[in-house]
Amino acid sequence: MPRISDVLAAGVRSYSFEFFPAKTEKAEERLWESIRRLEPLHPTFVSVTYGAGGSSRERTVETTRRIAQETTLTPVAHLTAVGHSETELRHIIGQYADAGVRDILALRGDPPGDPMGEWRPHPEGLTHAEELVRLVRSCGDFGVGVAAFPERHPRSPDWDSEISHFHRKCEAGADYAVTQMFFDVEDYLRLRDRLYAQGCRVPVIAGIMPVTHVGQIERMAQLSNAVFPPRLAERLHAVEDDPAAVREIGVEYAARMCERLLEEDVPGLHFITLNNSTATLEIYQGLGLVGTRVAA
Ligand code: FAD
Repeated sequence: MPRISDVLAAGVRSYSFEFFPAKTEKAEERLWESIRRLEPLHPTFVSVTYGAGGSSRERTVETTRRIAQETTLTPVAHLTAVGHSETELRHIIGQYADAGVRDILALRGDPPGDPMGEWRPHPEGLTHAEELVRLVRSCGDFGVGVAAFPERHPRSPDWDSEISHFHRKCEAGADYAVTQMFFDVEDYLRLRDRLYAQGCRVPVIAGIMPVTHVGQIERMAQLSNAVFPPRLAERLHAVEDDPAAVREIGVEYAARMCERLLEEDVPGLHFITLNNSTATLEIYQGLGLVGTRVAA
């Protein structure tokens, strides 16, 4: 399996897809249908998000294991520090190693229930993602990714602290970053310039979420804190009774963003699929990426 850091270091652009662990049998079927439909696109990696707690966490580990063992895909396991002692985190990292997973996206996570609530680390756990990066590195020969925020992390008081904390994660051993979803390419470019100005050269992969339902506008802005462009929201609301028209506008908007990012020589595009392959496939086809194979 190619290492993501090696692919990026070779100057090969990364394409990747994000899934979340399914809650029901039916949702599991849909998830695997999407994985199988996207597999022939030969993405650089696919990632599986890590839930706030309980059984969804076991499903993340199990889904990532299956991807590693039953598909041709390279999985990246998201892992958060929420509610875990350091010993538990070591155990989960060990489970990933046993399953053949070699890449981990090391995240702090958000307080369960209220993502904007006060962050309280587990008494025997970790406080910042930077520490998780170190922990993963100390547990074996893993590739490690971290999160980046084109609109700044909602709890960061200013850009100086945002960039300096991000820099620390990189110095702790992150190979690359994946951004929070964003809807204005300028935000991504400004973040890239800020990092560059501070001497941070870690590749920052752009997180793209094609909006395919009007309900996602509020939901996603709430979860990610990303500002949704008012003009796009207006266009989507204007056709909200016509699901096909909503989809078309959402997919078209995401495709234009990708085009612009590719012109700007972005190191990678990471599609948040919400376990639905169609929008990602359409964008991929529209950009003429079908059939592009990523060098191993
Ligand atoms: P950190 O890097 O620890 O940063 C959190 C805040 O603390 C920031 O304001 C930062 O500036 C500050 N900070 C960092 N280091 C220090 C320091 N040393 N001293 C003082 N302040 C510091 N959440 C999930 O629950 N599951 C997922 O699967 C998941 N996947 C994600 C994937 C991506 C690509 C992204 C962008 C986010 C994802 N998240 C996920 C959300 C993420 O966990 C939250 O946004 C979380 O609030 C921040 O995580 P972080 O890893 O950036 O934390």
